[in-house]
Amino acid sequence: MPRAGYVYDPLYLEHDVPGHPESPGRLRAIMAHLEDAGLLAQMTSLTPRDATPDDLELVHSGALIERVRQACQPDTDHWLDVDTYVVARSYDAALRAAGGVLAAVDAVLDGQTDSAFCLVRPPGHHATPDRAMGFCLFNNVAIAAAHALARRGLERVAIVDFDVHHGNGTQDAFYADGRVLYFSTHQHPFYPGTGYWTATGEGSGEGAIVNVPLPRGCGDAEYLRCYREICAPALRRFRPQLLLVSAGFDAHFADPLAQMLVSARGYHGIATILRELAVELCDGRIVYTLEGGYDHTALAWSVRACIDTLLGNPFSPDPLGHGPRIAGPDIEGMLAAVKRVHGL
Ligand SMILES: [Zn+2]
Repeated sequence: MPRAGYVYDPLYLEHDVPGHPESPGRLRAIMAHLEDAGLLAQMTSLTPRDATPDDLELVHSGALIERVRQACQPDTDHWLDVDTYVVARSYDAALRAAGGVLAAVDAVLDGQTDSAFCLVRPPGHHATPDRAMGFCLFNNVAIAAAHALARRGLERVAIVDFDVHHGNGTQDAFYADGRVLYFSTHQHPFYPGTGYWTATGEGSGEGAIVNVPLPRGCGDAEYLRCYREICAPALRRFRPQLLLVSAGFDAHFADPLAQMLVSARGYHGIATILRELAVELCDGRIVYTLEGGYDHTALAWSVRACIDTLLGNPFSPDPLGHGPRIAGPDIEGMLAAVKRVHGL
């Protein structure tokens, strides 16, 4: 049976402003569901560490790190941009979130587990090298990728991002770095406005940024096409030694923040493709890290669907079922454009 680990820490719950969609209730819902389903008992608990300034500086400027640290004052909340808050414990939570993904990557590279799912927050993929934004303080997945390259001797790391929003921060971190393949499916046009298919990287990173911007209304069928027809051949050509996943679940049809129609079964399908690619290309080494996802029922069942693929379990039908049975938008021309620009 394949071995899977998970990262979780109660400190992740202390980053909290009441009423904000990026809430600790998200993680509580996931943990309660995984516990009830008996999945935590099938996984290894991996202990997160606290990221150090040296870890953060693999991706971020000293000025950003200091700005976030100083903004975390006792007994107040402070807004770094219109939708990104911090409270007194947010800096500590963010260090442990980034450090949690580092611990998971080390556990997988050391052979302690085959794969891992990091149940961390605050999320990270919008945080750029010098800016916290979009609910994100530090870019957990980018720091983990940079760590694997700089300190663990890897030469090629792939990051797959199926959050409904484009991971502009991750793209920025590696835009001119051909050692990281960044693949993203995202609603477009939508927050944060980046991620058009013509953005493909530059310099030694030319071609290593693969953006698949999708019109609103895409469901399981459209998403699975993107993963089979673009993600799979792009990863096979790149031959990553480690696969990281920015796992946001806000493309679910029940999510309140976006307009996509993916179901938990669809996430199981995407995760099955990613797991098979990891087995084929990098000894099954795959590390998921939580990004968005704001309907708690959809989030818990969709995370569970991904974890089930890591454990070799079949899809477990969820109470929300499939989304609206409507014809998806035509994505033929966009897929053709992405294939053409990337030679796929
Ligand atoms: Zn998102």
